[in-house]
Amino acid sequence: MKRVFNFSAGPSCLPLEVLETAAAEMTDYKGSGQSVMEMSHRSKVYEPIIGGTESLVRELLSVPENYDVLFLQGGASTQFAMVPMNLKKKGRAAYIDTGVWSDKAIKEAGKYLEVDVLATSKDRAYSYIPAVKTVSGGYDYAHITLNNTIVGTAWQDIPECGDIPLVTDASSCILSGPLDVSRFGIIYAGAQKNLGPAGVTLVIIRKDLVTGETVPGTPTMLNYKIHADNDSMYNTPPCYSIYMMGLVLEWVKRNGGAEGMLKRNREKAKLFYDFLDSGRYYKGTAEKESRSLMNIPFVTGETDPEKAAALNKKFVAEATAAGLVNLAGHRLVGGMRASIYNAMGLDGVKALIAFMEQFSKANG
Ligand SMILES: *Cc1c(COP(=O)(O)O)cnc(C)c1O
Repeated sequence: MKRVFNFSAGPSCLPLEVLETAAAEMTDYKGSGQSVMEMSHRSKVYEPIIGGTESLVRELLSVPENYDVLFLQGGASTQFAMVPMNLKKKGRAAYIDTGVWSDKAIKEAGKYLEVDVLATSKDRAYSYIPAVKTVSGGYDYAHITLNNTIVGTAWQDIPECGDIPLVTDASSCILSGPLDVSRFGIIYAGAQKNLGPAGVTLVIIRKDLVTGETVPGTPTMLNYKIHADNDSMYNTPPCYSIYMMGLVLEWVKRNGGAEGMLKRNREKAKLFYDFLDSGRYYKGTAEKESRSLMNIPFVTGETDPEKAAALNKKFVAEATAAGLVNLAGHRLVGGMRASIYNAMGLDGVKALIAFMEQFSKANG
């Protein structure tokens, strides 16, 4: 069997051990005679699967008692609406615009309340995180995108928000290292980057924010309280994706938990950034103080736009042929992007660097 090194931004690679366990359990889960896909979500055999996944989320992220852990559907994109629909009180929220996903969250929230964009890094193509140390004022909540998947930046110092609940989109960095959950009112993340396959969205929400008071017309399915009161089983949950998340979390636990992931991710990112910084052929596009450990966009030194586009295309094609896939940059940014989430090993990063060295020699 030949596995490629997959640098996709999402859905992204999963640990091989996880896939092998899922394969072994595919047709007969632990002697139940059924696949996890086939069983009732209200059965005795499924209960420990969702319960165990929740326990692992709580353990690995040290989630305090006064938070609910929810498994929802609709991706992070649905949270862009669910957050304002559930948190609106006075009618104003503060957002910080650090990229395409922030911008989408801002536009969606604008349908339900007044949005103050406190800062934006749009002036320099979102290549940095704006300096926002504190947020104050009569806001219902403040919102940041913790890791910006497309442009490869990440918050290094989370703003101090006092009594204002801080909401964060952590889709592309959840569990890449420890996180102080108590700093946030809501943390949400689509699973398909660091937690498992697509189809489930993890929401960690402080219990006092689960009021059930929503903007008029809010669908039942978009009310946090409905899901909290029903242990994420108001309707059929994404059963199989939750099971897969559980397997990924067990793998994280076996590999040192959140601290273990941070060590692993720092080592990979350092190797890659050091390589980008060491020569003149490639260049990282995010500013150094804002760099992400998860997504690393880069360009070649070619300045002529047409030649650069052709060179990027050649790079991606030759990398693919060498078993290094999904390296094309996001269509809005261009260039290349290596996403190196938890499941990507150091061996993948080393193989990519070796390919890049050879490519620069042949094309430099
Ligand atoms: C991928 C991503 C999204 C979109 O997630 P969906 O689950 O596809 O809705 C939102 N925000 C960030 C930061 C992402 O990386």
